[in-house]
Amino acid sequence: MSSNLVIVYHRQPYTEVEVDGKIEYHENKSPNGIVPTLKSFFGRFDKGSWVAWKEAEDPNNPDFERRIEIEDDFGTYGVTRLPLTREQVKSFYEVSSKEAFWPILHGFKERYNYDPVDWPTFREVNWAFAEAAAAEAADGAVVWVHDYNLWLVPGYLRQLRPDVKISFFHHTPFPSADMFNVLPWRKEILESLLACDVVGFHIPRYVANFVSAARSMFEVDVTRRQKVEDDFASEFSALTEVSVPSELEFRGHKIGVQASPVGVDADYIEEVSQRPETDRMAAEIRAELGERRLLLSVGRTDYTKGGIDQLESFERILEANPDMLGKVKLMHVSVPANQNMTVYENIQADLEQMAGRINGRFGTLDWQPIALISRAIPFTDLVAYYRAANVAWITPLADGMNLVAKEFAAARVDGDGVLVLSEFAGAAVEMRSALLTNPFSARSMDSAIEQALAMEEVERKDRMKALRETVHKYDIRFWADHQMQALGGDAAKAARANAA
Ligand code: UDP
Repeated sequence: MSSNLVIVYHRQPYTEVEVDGKIEYHENKSPNGIVPTLKSFFGRFDKGSWVAWKEAEDPNNPDFERRIEIEDDFGTYGVTRLPLTREQVKSFYEVSSKEAFWPILHGFKERYNYDPVDWPTFREVNWAFAEAAAAEAADGAVVWVHDYNLWLVPGYLRQLRPDVKISFFHHTPFPSADMFNVLPWRKEILESLLACDVVGFHIPRYVANFVSAARSMFEVDVTRRQKVEDDFASEFSALTEVSVPSELEFRGHKIGVQASPVGVDADYIEEVSQRPETDRMAAEIRAELGERRLLLSVGRTDYTKGGIDQLESFERILEANPDMLGKVKLMHVSVPANQNMTVYENIQADLEQMAGRINGRFGTLDWQPIALISRAIPFTDLVAYYRAANVAWITPLADGMNLVAKEFAAARVDGDGVLVLSEFAGAAVEMRSALLTNPFSARSMDSAIEQALAMEEVERKDRMKALRETVHKYDIRFWADHQMQALGGDAAKAARANAA
């Protein structure tokens, strides 16, 4: 089972479906998203495998299929499923990762919850991932570990397999030392990350923050720095950096640190946007709205997404602009996570209560200012809403990247539409032609929407043109190629081909 590339990601790379009593492994429907992109790497290495977890009532049951072979559009690859009990999943993922790490990663100290964390279970699960990856990896293989819930994997793996190349990608923000050091396990986590060969983040600011945290507790030398490219630093915004470290040295070991923004599959989204059925649906949505203008907000139900602050802003705007009554509609899509986590339940209830109050206060028989949608909209339908909206209003308080903002631009094949984007979303670093707003300032939030609604067509189109160029230039293929250079896969494959 010697693989040249082992991807370690907590989710399985397919959907399990029971058909006539038999389990079938189905390709995830939409090619948009990170999982298909990761799988596309299997085509770039000779042999690949994936390590994920799967809930099991009894992890020792001999019938549990721990390893399966998958053959799909991406080739043939092995998938190791670590059997975890419900308690283990709850502890390592729903509690330690979501209640303790997630708030700190996003800068919400006050939401940090230490008490329920069971650190031995977090270690145990991470150890199991590391062992499984070690068993899959060929000599000198690349092991690519994803996200903060697997923070301890690199350190364990380095003990088990000093020969492999370890790369780690963070899909969230990374906070500075002042925030990160709230975590009492900070030293263990950073020591593990410093065992990597490459640590990747979305934007240069997260790289700088990681280095600040690492240097707050270890002798880490910055052995190379580089200027941030103009596309990510030409103007100052809340998350820009001018120059960042690109290589570190720790205990004689070199670590590359780099920023590559995850993008969207802009060509695919454009293709979906141009389909006749998308056209039809967008036209129907517009027809139903009549002269009304549509503000669209899409995100998961999470305090980081700033849903409440946005509804507060909308209420203030309606209050201050009586001429807007009956003329705008906010479609607020807030999709709750599957898990029954209390933190999320409260937010959903607050959103419902607030939307109800605003609708009650301003609504009439034939106009409700807010349509609150709390179920996931299939991606192809979402593209029709992107097409039909006048304004996409995306104002997270903190967000590693935010793909919705990029999808909106990619979907606007008509070149129109305004993007109002929080300057605290990673995407704002590239998407500076959006109307950037500060969600912590009521005045900035309200005026951005007023400006968006008043914007002339020429300016709308100019800005959208620049946004569309950006999402095409820094699309998901750019990210994949950038990661590939860091993993050294193409080079390794080419060298083998030359030697043969
Ligand atoms: N999404 C969707 N249907 C919905 C809401 C969201 O398909 O009703 C998708 C959206 O298209 C995007 C993803 O969910 O691809 C959300 O990604 P983003 O980076 O914006 O936020 P995250 O949830 O990863 O924090």
